[in-house]
Amino acid sequence: MSDFYIPTWDEIEKAMLHVAEQAVDSGFVPEVIVAIPTGGVVPSKLLKDILNIERIRYIEIKLYKNVGKKDVKPVVKSVCVDDIEGKDVLVVDDVADSGETLEAVSNVLSMFNPKSVKYATVYIKPWARKYPDFYYKMIDKWIVFPWDKWDVVREIPEVNVDNKEKYLEIERKLRETHY
Ligand code: 5GP
Ligand code: MG
Ligand code: MG
Repeated sequence: MSDFYIPTWDEIEKAMLHVAEQAVDSGFVPEVIVAIPTGGVVPSKLLKDILNIERIRYIEIKLYKNVGKKDVKPVVKSVCVDDIEGKDVLVVDDVADSGETLEAVSNVLSMFNPKSVKYATVYIKPWARKYPDFYYKMIDKWIVFPWDKWDVVREIPEVNVDNKEKYLEIERKLRETHY
């Protein structure tokens, strides 16, 4: 199953420390984080903790339906970004692939008149149109994150991830009681 890149929780922790250090070294310390749910939520929380930032806000954008298959255009599902006028904003997502999600976020944010906007992702694909300002690593495979691996196991049960037996047991119980 070498079609996937499967980082551990420990790699994610190291990655977010790396991204935070990049931001600090560049002189950028945001006042607000805008997370892109759901993949950007855990990286946002980790950056909030490391950088001691008070607030996380959200722009929910859907692009991919399934592993490796994408919709034609990103769709903005909800926007929760009160009071960012005049503020330094850091947008955080798990990965920039085509870069369309970050472009869509950029368009939405411009209407709220922030002072500055920078972008951080854990990973970036080499073919991305919009590169984030801060990221940990370039990866050219489908990334299975610790927070979305059971989605992948549901679709591709043979994928090799930690703790799969326990998950499959829960899935069996769910099927018995709910379907
Ligand atoms: P883009 O708009 O840059 O093409 O895609 C970014 C969004 O697609 C991310 O917010 C993420 O949800 C999803 N995505 C893109 N590539 C991957 C990947 O390799 N693994 C996972 N889990 N999600 C991805
Ligand atoms: Mg996403
Ligand atoms: Mg996702």
